[in-house]
Amino acid sequence: MFAINKTECVGCGTCYKLCPYDAIVETTFGEKQVYEINEEKCMECSLCFKACPLRAINNEEEV
Ligand code: SF4
Ligand code: SF4
Repeated sequence: MFAINKTECVGCGTCYKLCPYDAIVETTFGEKQVYEINEEKCMECSLCFKACPLRAINNEEEV
């Protein structure tokens, strides 16, 4: 399952624009605007994981 690390995410929106399943939604983390993955919609295609410039998206099964 993929998850966005909200501490590392800078809210660039790259993953949000890329997700073919509209599974990434805006949210806030403290003062920051960040994104999170709706696990019910995510099809685990890994596009966001590969695209995040900060590597802020983790695949928890690989940890
Ligand atoms: S691509 Fe990475 S840094 Fe950009 S919004 Fe998505 S998780 Fe955050
Ligand atoms: S793994 Fe694919 S379906 Fe899941 S949030 Fe990322 S881009 Fe969307």
